[in-house]
Amino acid sequence: RFLSIEGGEGVGKSTQINALADMIRSHGHEVILTREPGGTEGAEVIRQLLLGGSAERWAARAEALLFAAARSDHVERLIEPALASGKWVIADRFIDSSRAYQGAGSGLSDDDIMTLHGIGSRGLLPDRTLVLRLDPKEAAQRAAARDQNRPDRIQGRAEDFHSDVDMAFVGYAEREPRVRLVDASGTAEDVTARLVAQISDLLVE
Ligand code: C5P
Repeated sequence: RFLSIEGGEGVGKSTQINALADMIRSHGHEVILTREPGGTEGAEVIRQLLLGGSAERWAARAEALLFAAARSDHVERLIEPALASGKWVIADRFIDSSRAYQGAGSGLSDDDIMTLHGIGSRGLLPDRTLVLRLDPKEAAQRAAARDQNRPDRIQGRAEDFHSDVDMAFVGYAEREPRVRLVDASGTAEDVTARLVAQISDLLVE
């Protein structure tokens, strides 16, 4: 089974991915945790190119191609082999981040992003995509507290970029049954329970 976890800054994505993996392991499955951009040696090199600089470093199309290239290597060398050997894979971000950030946020069409995904990664989609969502003000506070020591962000994006990204995720959840919005407020345990509820049908199959 292939799960992706999405969500803006400060929603507690990393904590929740680990908790979800522990829960799935407790059902006797082997779980591989990975992240985007990155996950393989080559893709991690591309990550450095993408996340090291300012929002203006790359032209929008070039940025989309680099994300697609990183994902292609990641899918072929890590995700597909793991799935083929019966493991679960949980990806910290996947194609829906490209649709939301390089597409809705940066002005490329969803068709273009999906065409790149078709070429790069044979259009592989997760079995389920869980989008963690928090009130934007609370998310900004959590992200500011955390990011003081973490320079590996794309800096300097405008406020409306983030709201475009958020609205894009809401739209995917409305139209695509694999995509589920999950309320990220409350305690970590509350949030984990909400995530588990969204994949329980996959666990019993
Ligand atoms: O929160 P996370 O550690 O996943 O952040 C990675 C960074 O990469 C974020 O700043 C996010 O905005 C950006 N990103 C992006 N396009 C993607 C994936 C991540 O702009 N497809």
